[in-house]
Amino acid sequence: MRPQSPTFAKAARMNSQTSVQYLKGVGPKLGALLEKRGLKSLGDLIRYYPRAYEDRRAARTILSLQADELVSLKARVHKVGSFKLGRSTRKMYDVALRDESGQIHCKFFRVPYKGYFERFQPGQEIRVIGKVTNYRGKLEFHHPDLREIDDEEEMQDDLIPIYPEIENLSSNKILRMIRASLEILKAELGPEKLPKEMLAKYNLLTEAEALSQLHMPSPDQAVVLNEQKSPAHRRVIFEEFFWLELFLAAKKSGLQKEKGIAIRNENLKSQKLMASLPFELTSAQLRAFDEIRRDLMIPHPMSRLVQGDVGSGKTMVCFLAALYAAESNYQTALMVPTEILAEQHFKTASRYLEVLGVRLGILTGKTKPVERKEILLKLSSGEIDLLIGTHALLEDPVQFKNLALVIIDEQHRFGVEQRGKLKNKGLSPHFLVMTATPIPRTLAMTVYGDLEVSVINEMPKGRAPIQTRVIFENKRPQALDFMMEQIQKGRQAYVIYPLVEESEKIDLKDAVGEFEKLKNQYPKVAMGLLHGKMKPAEKEAVMDSFRKQEIQILVSTTVIEVGVDVPNANLMMIEHSERFGLSQLHQLRGRVGRGQHKSFCIMILGRAVSQEARERTAFMEKTTDGFKIAEFDLELRGPGEFMGTRQSGLPGFRMANLVRDVEILQEARNAAFEILKQDPTLHQIQHVHLRAELLKTHGPIALAHIA
Ligand code: ADP
Ligand code: MG
Repeated sequence: MRPQSPTFAKAARMNSQTSVQYLKGVGPKLGALLEKRGLKSLGDLIRYYPRAYEDRRAARTILSLQADELVSLKARVHKVGSFKLGRSTRKMYDVALRDESGQIHCKFFRVPYKGYFERFQPGQEIRVIGKVTNYRGKLEFHHPDLREIDDEEEMQDDLIPIYPEIENLSSNKILRMIRASLEILKAELGPEKLPKEMLAKYNLLTEAEALSQLHMPSPDQAVVLNEQKSPAHRRVIFEEFFWLELFLAAKKSGLQKEKGIAIRNENLKSQKLMASLPFELTSAQLRAFDEIRRDLMIPHPMSRLVQGDVGSGKTMVCFLAALYAAESNYQTALMVPTEILAEQHFKTASRYLEVLGVRLGILTGKTKPVERKEILLKLSSGEIDLLIGTHALLEDPVQFKNLALVIIDEQHRFGVEQRGKLKNKGLSPHFLVMTATPIPRTLAMTVYGDLEVSVINEMPKGRAPIQTRVIFENKRPQALDFMMEQIQKGRQAYVIYPLVEESEKIDLKDAVGEFEKLKNQYPKVAMGLLHGKMKPAEKEAVMDSFRKQEIQILVSTTVIEVGVDVPNANLMMIEHSERFGLSQLHQLRGRVGRGQHKSFCIMILGRAVSQEARERTAFMEKTTDGFKIAEFDLELRGPGEFMGTRQSGLPGFRMANLVRDVEILQEARNAAFEILKQDPTLHQIQHVHLRAELLKTHGPIALAHIA
């Protein structure tokens, strides 16, 4: 250890764990407010980063502004107003600002905090800090910082960090608190957590240097700081990613050590299955199965993600894996998110696997008690080789005899805990997850960073890309004509609505009402209706008739979103497309284009749709590449929204941005994996801080991995 510095001795009682309320001028009340925002200790406070930097050296006028500049300027409030957005209940707020040179609007699509807009009166001089946006040829601010002029603040240094405000705590006050904390913690920040060699190799500042540059910026760094691309930013972002990746690397190396079941056999049945299929597997499917089989043969549990776009044929890949396990008399559990999908997989398995001696079972929430009892019995005595089902598989009474393989289809629909729970039903079974929602590379590196990935990057032969058109409601008659032409040719169609029943507030056409109308309009066409409120047996009957082509048009809500496979259907019509996320539209569209027929997707936009929704849907016309769509979606909505609320386990970053900082993420990942490879238990002296941090944040789980 290095000798303690005099500053440290003086502030000996305060350290990074010290509660913020003991900071001079804070106290219990303000302390509680800060705590509510996650700022409990001095250590938290110095990691509350500026959202921008205000350069006071150049006084700007509205007329001089240019698109994409981050600026700070004084202007007078002209008017504060709010508007309803389209027909929804959402509101947009607008603060119009003026100076001698001109006028500019500040637009807000949400209220930053209660009372935010009430602070401003017409005529009042305020400071606006934000990025200038070009919106349809006009310059405006979106969600800028608006602040009352603070005389004391106006006199300070040239480059001022701007912090996200905490209720009515001004940025300036936050700045003072942070600087005081930095002073107190100066000595403590000395011993650097990241190893020296790593700092040198990846060209990183020390944490102390980074924090001081962020909170006490030098004016010549104004541009890079505002772009969040300064060396200080890089250091902080790198570290945020690094801790996550280090944990994932530890988890992965831990799994490689865990004992598992080596499944070895001659793999004879897969040949028979392939011979019985009406098509040839693609080389991507074969490669994925090969990768899986290699993992299954090793006496350590597999952790593999099969990533393949909708319609790429993932089902056969997982059937091959289950068949391989069954050949050695091991059991497989296949969990899917919906009953419809469980039924469908069960049917396909009955057709192709049962003849090869695989004994099947299906278990959903709606399985009758008598059947359920029988299935549970057979399962525990080993008379079922492949059990297909929904969440019902997770229940306690579901006990296997020798579960060796767990497969989760459409895994993005499940939470992290649910996945773990199924895995615990066996003794370290092999684990395979499949997803049709393509995960952008960045997310795959974070959430699934401990998984091996097999990519199915090839579509079955003879599939023409789906042709997509986005139209407005007034063109629906033509779209319907087109649909009828396809029906006449013997094809089938889906019509999708966002809601089940008409809601009083929003005038969405509901599936039930529109179904009746369509039936009256085309009495000779066989139509079926499917929605979430129907009984499972009714749903299954409708799906069955659709599969058998007794139903030509299936009117449905999004219950068919994932997995459904009826190759003769070649037209997908989606009403109120603006209501869906891009990945969801992609999933829905993926219900067609599954056979040899040219397929079409018509996305209809409701009346009062925003420009944003129009641009978003227009993107769907341009590409059918799920990865591109996912990247775009991630950029638009951010990782939380993109993954859905069910998807826990997504880390919250303070500064890092999964879209912007991919390169740093990749470097941090490399750094983490390199270190664990070289020092798997993190016992080397230069890694003690890493070990300590890992144990602190992940506890015994991490300890087990690096034991
Ligand atoms: P997803 O990857 O979306 O789960 P599915 O496994 O449901 O895709 O397969 C989509 C359709 O393509 C199914 O009808 C399936 O039988 C068929 N299919 C799968 N593999 C091939 C192939 N190699 N050639 C032709 N059709 C295939
Ligand atoms: Mg599927």
